[in-house]
Amino acid sequence: MAKQYDVIVIGAGPGGMTAALYASRSNLSVLMLDRGIYGGQMNNTAEIENYPGFKSILGPDLGQQMYDGATQFGAEYAYGNVSQVINDGLWKRVITDEETFEAKAIVIATGAEHRKLGVEGEETYSGRGVSYCAVCDGAFFKNRELVVVGGGDSAIEEGLYLTQLASKVTVIHRRDQLRAQQIIQKRAFANDKMNFVWDAQVEDILGDDMKVTGVKYVDKDTGEEHVVPASGAFIYVGIKPMTDSFKDLDILDDAGWIPTDDEMATRVPGVFAIGDVRAKNLRQITTAVGEGGQAGQSVFNYLQSLE
Ligand code: FAD
Repeated sequence: MAKQYDVIVIGAGPGGMTAALYASRSNLSVLMLDRGIYGGQMNNTAEIENYPGFKSILGPDLGQQMYDGATQFGAEYAYGNVSQVINDGLWKRVITDEETFEAKAIVIATGAEHRKLGVEGEETYSGRGVSYCAVCDGAFFKNRELVVVGGGDSAIEEGLYLTQLASKVTVIHRRDQLRAQQIIQKRAFANDKMNFVWDAQVEDILGDDMKVTGVKYVDKDTGEEHVVPASGAFIYVGIKPMTDSFKDLDILDDAGWIPTDDEMATRVPGVFAIGDVRAKNLRQITTAVGEGGQAGQSVFNYLQSLE
């Protein structure tokens, strides 16, 4: 028989670990499952300067501290790549590559992944000038020249955010016009610090072995190569929610995100979603943690309502 819990939290990033903390502290039996090491995206983050309580902390260190807190009231943690969740009404079956577990409530906290450009230098300089999050890393580049790659809402909004910190922001876009909403475009074109390179294919993120020094692109019309000198390259070519395993639950929106109400409840009773995987605007550790606390409490209320 499958092992049963009050709640299974899928994904042990900051959101999932906080949900596990709140639920286990309310005396619920909790299993956290993750297909990697606990900590989620924090494991790929060097310095975090915007998590309250710490002037600066390394991502993996914050992950370890959150894990110690999350498991202190009995929440279990296990390795498991969740491939499917089946809603049998009162019980939900959580299927991993090796095992099946059951719980009356599920918290989905599987996060999201920034799409990569796939060019030379991108991986080498990730965290050393290459970034996918202006709110996270912009402050490291005060009065420097930066490049933003992309032309959608995120690229232009984050580019505008960066103009408050950087001396110059050059947007490199592969088309001859932006895809961002008109109002955002208007703001961007009116901003003196914003520059645009059109019809350009980024080829290479250049560096001096330590950090980014520029971005090389090819002009798609002329075939000529150019370099924009920059200390940072912010890449916004899409972000993908980690929700393939939850398609059968019928809780995803058209783009694959999970909409919830203020209690973090999805449209399926007993299924909650938090953190980067939710349909929302700001994807940060603080927001994931806040939603995790809410979900832990919502799970408690949901289970009480079943009695
Ligand atoms: P995640 O942290 O994404 O964790 C999701 C977890 O779910 C992962 O451990 C994953 O292995 C697991 N998982 C996914 N699918 C499955 C599955 N099918 N089965 C089992 N497990 C699964 N935010 C800040 O606030 N400040 C910063 O300075 C900052 N810097 C960042 C720097 C980088 C390089 C990156 C990538 C992100 C940064 N962020 C920062 C964003 C922040 O890390 C995320 O917003 C936050 O981690 C989201 O938390 P989460 O709990 O929703 O999901």
